[in-house]
Amino acid sequence: MTSEHLVVGGGIGGLATALAVARTGRPVRVLERAAEFGEVGAGIQLAPNATRVLDRLGVLDELREVGVLPRRLVLADAVAGHELTALDLTDFPGRYGAPYVVAHRTDVHRILLDACRAAGVALETGADVTDVRDTGGGVEVTCADGRVHRGAAAVGADGLRSRVRRQFSDDEPICSGYVAYRGAVPMDQVSRHADLRDVVAWVGPGLHLVQYPLRSGSMYNQVAVFRSDAYTRGEADWGTPAELTERFAVCCDHVRESTPLLGRDQRWPMYDREPIATWAKGRVALLGDAAHPMVQYLAQGACQALEDAAVLADALERDDVEPAFLAYQQDRAPRAARVQRTARTWGQIWHVDGVAKLLRDELFRQRGERDHTHVEWLYGPPPR
Ligand SMILES: Cc1cc2nc3c(=O)[nH]c(=O)nc-3n(C[C@H](O)[C@H](O)[C@H](O)COP(=O)(O)OP(=O)(O)OC[C@H]3O[C@@H](n4cnc5c(N)ncnc54)[C@H](O)[C@@H]3O)c2cc1C
Repeated sequence: MTSEHLVVGGGIGGLATALAVARTGRPVRVLERAAEFGEVGAGIQLAPNATRVLDRLGVLDELREVGVLPRRLVLADAVAGHELTALDLTDFPGRYGAPYVVAHRTDVHRILLDACRAAGVALETGADVTDVRDTGGGVEVTCADGRVHRGAAAVGADGLRSRVRRQFSDDEPICSGYVAYRGAVPMDQVSRHADLRDVVAWVGPGLHLVQYPLRSGSMYNQVAVFRSDAYTRGEADWGTPAELTERFAVCCDHVRESTPLLGRDQRWPMYDREPIATWAKGRVALLGDAAHPMVQYLAQGACQALEDAAVLADALERDDVEPAFLAYQQDRAPRAARVQRTARTWGQIWHVDGVAKLLRDELFRQRGERDHTHVEWLYGPPPR
């Protein structure tokens, strides 16, 4: 057996894990299926529960340089066009020990990749992992091209459609019937934008649009999401660009006139899965979307993967692989399950109509911008 720790998947979760484990002095190898390491050309929100981990990994300063520290998270009415409620982010470093940062995904991914290289992580692309086996005392990871890697432990960070997860559950991703269009464009192409100091989510019945600046304000990121009527009708081709235009036709001028800037050639149907309690068996563990895929309304999927990485590395520092993986699962699975469930509920709150909307708006009106009642558990350090 070699002492190498094998990470299947080189997304944000896999790279953060490789870096965190390498920082404990253990040899690490990342096996990525794609021909090149990379990420989608869109933005990502990183809350303090994630930026604390990035700080600990020594990459937060670099992220700050290429990211934006927004002033507020704002919820606005996508149809009526007015603000509903907001959360002040300016005191986050003092309150939560780290800032709320929005950044380009490719920047976050590149920063982690560079840090992995510098930490001596072995990085392999074109490695489509087909099998991960606990051999008793070690693991064996097989790739489609016949490559076999032996190591001390394997972490499945292979995303929503994880192959490694099949050892843990026979469940399938659950389609929400919602679809996302997203993209970041240079600011000089943008004629319509919200206040550039804020992250703004324009919410309406069965739809929303999120907008925020990236790369020190030189780019603008947009994500439009809607519930597809074609999906509900059972049509195979659902969530099309034509449906996007049609669904957003009810929105206020600002939202309607913002959507033409969204790329139309790619779309992301939105899936999650039910939480599972078992993420670790022997020397194999799940991490990130492979363990806890969630709908993105809380902007927490990658944040949770970063929390996973930190807890997993801490556990490996304290103990041998098998007890460490169990301790990681016990620590992380209940919290990630809560985030998965809350993300669904938050989506429902965003997308309601009728009387429920009236009640929601009234509750929003009553809260102040420094009311942390509903986010303290998520952004603050979890109780140990
Ligand atoms: C529209 C949208 C907006 C979002 N916004 C946010 C946000 O603002 N903040 C936030 O925290 N989260 C957000 N998320 C969620 C976030 O993107 C994911 O939770 C996160 O990227 C998951 O990272 P991961 O590394 O676990 O998985 P992935 O990013 O899916 O990476 C998995 C990697 O594994 C590789 N792989 C797959 N199978 C194999 C195999 N068999 N062998 C080898 N490699 C393999 C893949 O090629 C990929 O590189 C959003 C998601 C969506 C859809």
